[in-house]
Amino acid sequence: MTVTGGCQCGRVRYALSAEPKGTHFCHCRMCQRAAGNVFAGLTGVKKDELTWTKGEPAFYRSSNVAQRGFCRDCGTPLYFGYDKGNWNCVTIGSLDHPEEVALETHYGVESKLPWLELCDGMPEHESDDTDPRAIGMVSNQSEGA
Ligand SMILES: [Zn+2]
Ligand SMILES: [Zn+2]
Repeated sequence: MTVTGGCQCGRVRYALSAEPKGTHFCHCRMCQRAAGNVFAGLTGVKKDELTWTKGEPAFYRSSNVAQRGFCRDCGTPLYFGYDKGNWNCVTIGSLDHPEEVALETHYGVESKLPWLELCDGMPEHESDDTDPRAIGMVSNQSEGA
């Protein structure tokens, strides 16, 4: 099966050769900032299962261990991936059929906004500092003014 997605303006398109898994909302501060939203909706595929089929995203290194891809023309967040390991994520909202993935977990809930009430019954996990992909992470986040 092929799952497809892309950005708002259509200049960047991708295809997944396998069904995405591990669909989650990440509430961590980096994902909030990267998505410009109250959480990031992400779903996972293996790196070799993701092909950019039209255009190429621009990448921002949000830390020394990961990068985030987005359309340089319309700004749609498309991708999150650690350098290590074989998994990366695409944004749920950039899928052509986001209704075909099902939410599995919440992550980074230590930063979940206090007024956001989760009523979906899905498991909630705090960010894991012991994740081997994130060891030695130095964030490139602006702390703002
Ligand atoms: Zn675009
Ligand atoms: Zn996150």
